[in-house]
Amino acid sequence: MDNTRFFDFESLTSSGEIECACGQKHRTDLKVLAAGKGVIQELPEALKKLNVRRPMIVSGPFSFPAVGVKVCAVLEKADIAYSAFVFERSSEKKLQPNEKAVAEIIGHFDPACDALLCVGSGSVNDVCKTAATELHVPQLTAGSAPSMDGYTSASAALELNNTKTTVSVNAPVGVICDVDLMAQAPMRLLWAGLGDMAAKACSLCEWEMASVVLGEHYCPYTADLVKLSYERSLSGAPHIPERNPDSVQAVIEGLLLSGVCMSYMNSSRPASGLEHYFSHCWEMMAIARGKEYDLHGIYVGIGSVITLHIFKKLRQLRPDRARAEKAAAEFDRDAWEARLRRVFLGTADSFIALEDKLRKNDRDKRMKRVDTILENWDRLVGILEKAPDPEEVEAILRSSGMPTRASEIGLGADDAADAFVCSRDTRDKYLTSSLIWDIGYMDEFEALVKELV
Ligand SMILES: [Zn+2]
Ligand SMILES: [Zn+2]
Repeated sequence: MDNTRFFDFESLTSSGEIECACGQKHRTDLKVLAAGKGVIQELPEALKKLNVRRPMIVSGPFSFPAVGVKVCAVLEKADIAYSAFVFERSSEKKLQPNEKAVAEIIGHFDPACDALLCVGSGSVNDVCKTAATELHVPQLTAGSAPSMDGYTSASAALELNNTKTTVSVNAPVGVICDVDLMAQAPMRLLWAGLGDMAAKACSLCEWEMASVVLGEHYCPYTADLVKLSYERSLSGAPHIPERNPDSVQAVIEGLLLSGVCMSYMNSSRPASGLEHYFSHCWEMMAIARGKEYDLHGIYVGIGSVITLHIFKKLRQLRPDRARAEKAAAEFDRDAWEARLRRVFLGTADSFIALEDKLRKNDRDKRMKRVDTILENWDRLVGILEKAPDPEEVEAILRSSGMPTRASEIGLGADDAADAFVCSRDTRDKYLTSSLIWDIGYMDEFEALVKELV
């Protein structure tokens, strides 16, 4: 192993299935994983290794001129034929990762091609993975920006019916992240990658808490890898403003490892918790109103700082059954529904339907969870104590120059409070906000969230 690298990526791609001590088998479909300076030159060799004869390049209007052109040059030099589809620059600022975008790729797919070669980041990557899965062709990715941890994951974040949804897809078989190219991405995209990685300080604790409260499967081995990916990425923060290649590489390596961890668990659980729901909710609030929204990772970074403050307050609490019982008795279904409608407008229907299916607000179910929480409170506090202090993480993010407060990106106290309170209703996932609701402390924490803007 090259000791300038923090992690032996070869071991991720060559180990096949891991028989884990957690009782599960973990696997990734990745066969090629390269992150480093000039590694785009390894693309022809990667295609050969993957038995791809003719790739179909799929790229976006910004990533194609930045990275796609270079990819084409490398392929041409190696005499590798290819086809290409580039999303047009639309009046909308960003590509919407929805059914329409997936259908566009499928509609333009050249049947002479035997793989998709995604050149891009975020949304292009999400729609490409979905299209490759539907087309039953393998996907390779040449990253354009270190902005999110989805490059190596087996899930895609899509916007279906104005709702942020995560769908299971095939993970790419190859990912190539050329640091020289990715370091030149817009600074906000570099910041977004750090924000997406700050999340892991929260998601790891929340995963473990969910295993205590709901008995969800928890894997210490994968959790350790996620922790490693978090530390690696954040170590790059101070020198991101000058686009230091070693720092950018550190961020990229953390992002890639985090994505592999999600593949291992077939779930976003290890890498995504309440902090991500601030992002999901702010995006959905904007989409419902036809407004622009910020980058996923920028929202997630801000959500991480808020969530770590929530953890800090939570570990000082001593919840009791009487308070939880009172909150359960006072629960007002109409007010709950009205708030979802005010916050998400028409999109609220799907969250109300989800509740009708899950019945997480039912009093008996709630009190059963409360009993488990109270019985295990010391254990839960012990888990929360593993999280770093919010001030520490905020200072690291700040060193990169990125925004860490909602008010810096035009969001107000009510936006933060709405996202916090409604987070637990948008998907079937037990969040820290779900636990706070269960024990009857929602108002206190809503007030805290408002103060943090
Ligand atoms: Zn495991
Ligand atoms: Zn994320």
